[in-house]
Amino acid sequence: MAQMHPRAWQGQSGLRSAPDIRQAAHAVPNASTLEDILHELRVREIELEIQNEELRRVQLTLEESRDRYLDLYEFAPAGYLTLDEKGIIQEINLAGAALLGCERSRLLRRSLCKFIAPDDGDRYHQALSRALKRTEQNSIALKLNRPGDSAFHVQMNCVRVIASDGSVTVRVTLIDINESKRAEAEVENLAFYDSLTQLPNRRLLMERLRQSLASSSRTKRHGAVLFIDLDDFKTLNDTQGHDIGDLLLKSVGNRLLTSVREGDTVARLGGDEFVIMLQDLSENQFEAVSQGRAAAEKILTLLKMPHLLEGHDYRSSGSIGISLYSGTQTSVEELLKHADLALYRAKGAGRGTLKFYDPEMQAAVTARAVLESDLRRGLEGRQFVLRYQRQVNGKGQMVGAEALVRWEHPIRGLLLPEEFIPLTQEKGLIGLLGQWILETACAQLVAWSSEPATAHLTVSINVSAQEFFHPEFVRQTLATIDRIGADPRKLMLEVTESVVLEHMEEALVKIRDLKLRGVSFALDDFGTGYSSLTYLKRLSFDHLKIDRSLVRDVLKDPIDQSIARIVIALGHSLGLQITVEGIETVEQRDFFALDGCQCFQGFLFGHPAPVESLL
Ligand code: C2E
Ligand code: MG
Ligand code: MG
Repeated sequence: MAQMHPRAWQGQSGLRSAPDIRQAAHAVPNASTLEDILHELRVREIELEIQNEELRRVQLTLEESRDRYLDLYEFAPAGYLTLDEKGIIQEINLAGAALLGCERSRLLRRSLCKFIAPDDGDRYHQALSRALKRTEQNSIALKLNRPGDSAFHVQMNCVRVIASDGSVTVRVTLIDINESKRAEAEVENLAFYDSLTQLPNRRLLMERLRQSLASSSRTKRHGAVLFIDLDDFKTLNDTQGHDIGDLLLKSVGNRLLTSVREGDTVARLGGDEFVIMLQDLSENQFEAVSQGRAAAEKILTLLKMPHLLEGHDYRSSGSIGISLYSGTQTSVEELLKHADLALYRAKGAGRGTLKFYDPEMQAAVTARAVLESDLRRGLEGRQFVLRYQRQVNGKGQMVGAEALVRWEHPIRGLLLPEEFIPLTQEKGLIGLLGQWILETACAQLVAWSSEPATAHLTVSINVSAQEFFHPEFVRQTLATIDRIGADPRKLMLEVTESVVLEHMEEALVKIRDLKLRGVSFALDDFGTGYSSLTYLKRLSFDHLKIDRSLVRDVLKDPIDQSIARIVIALGHSLGLQITVEGIETVEQRDFFALDGCQCFQGFLFGHPAPVESLL
């Protein structure tokens, strides 16, 4: 480096006074002379200048890169903004302005927070202050509050930038994520809401019930689950089509929504099943019951009002099962099951009714479930027996017997048909049982046919609707008779009025086909339903069995007497044989005998008993 006169650099270096030189001497420890010190200082001066030059260059590069940054992002698809430390917009590209829904000129020098949805305001400010404190990126999803558009979703990234002059700015990137958020919301909607009615679905209901149980155990307040089912929805669907069915479901959903308070939930489980969750009922159980009842009654009334579906009034009704809850001692699943059970009972009690769940219901259901499994075992294990009840003529001579089934239950003892026939039918097992009864009765006929004293006896068996309308009924009955070798003329099938009325034309054909082979038919329990003369004429029965309910009061009640006489006259005029059931006294027998009845059955002549004790 070229030597310079000390004076020459004095002005440049700014070292003008003695203390400056003393300070410099300290900074150069190995310097021995003033010349050396000055030289050394000059060297350092030059080095500093180089460094300053370097800094200026860096600064220029930064400025340039800032401009380039803006140039680069002017037409970029994402929104780019520069904010000052207070969040005021300094610069913004076109896409940014478009995202904020405003002209660029009107955005500059305005606070970005004005464009953020109010409920996301706090999160925005937190992200900004985080960015100002640290240098790493901050990324959050936010909703923008655009003019005329309350929620537009963007992803916001922000990072602090310190300029050469020490000023601090925040660079913000806004990316449009509205579509993906909408898709996300839709997926959520599909997962938690019923697409037809937009009501919460089972999944969301269960979730809310869980929360409600937890909150009820804190507040000690009761809640209620109302299980609602429309009474005749299937008919509407079948007769008017599914579009109208859908309209009814929507209309019902809307009505249910109007009947509850804010905080309660109306959900659709599927089909015509709706569930309402009522929250914050009284702490007192009795009050909670009456609140639940009042709500359910209001709903039943609402459901009965006509629905206007495509210009037509449509009347409907619903049934409701209610289950109360308090705390978490019952699980959500159990709660729904209880309400469903109560609904089942409500349906059984007739249309438009409500029923509360009570533990006795549960006990009945449990007993039924036990009976159901016992029933299958009973059928396999031959626990069923036939008892026979004598049928006698006017002279008291036995002409035949009615076979009545009993279940010798290994624990519960002898069960009567009313205790198990309905369940057997419901479980589709009546066909199996009926087949066994037919076989046993036919075998009895065969046994009697071999003895002259008993060869004339007939056997009657009861046939339920499910058996009778089975497509194979006629074929199977005839095949059984043939296989066992019984005389079909000695076999009588008893059916009730309600059975034959169910499908009149089919009944007509079946009765005709069996009668062609000699099997005879009795109309059982006559006088209990509403009897129509037309069908009596069309269906060619052989016997008419007067029900014991008419017999019971025939001697006391003049109206019963008149009815009995009319029935007898009717039967005779149609050429039917009349059997009177439930004769318990001689007077009853005499009354009917005087009126021309020739066949009797009842405790007066014998209880249903094992076949050995008949003769
Ligand atoms: P049902 O066919 O009308 O049978 C007559 C019922 O009246 C029998 O009751 C019989 O025990 C009862 N009974 C007979 N005489 C008297 C009397 O003098 N006084 C009183 N109080 N009752 C009398 P059970 O055996 O309990 O049968 C009830 C019903 O169960 C039957 O009514 C029938 O509908 C049905 N049932 C019975 N056995 C069968 C069967 O094998 N298959 C089907 N599907 N149903 C059956
Ligand atoms: Mg009968
Ligand atoms: Mg009867």
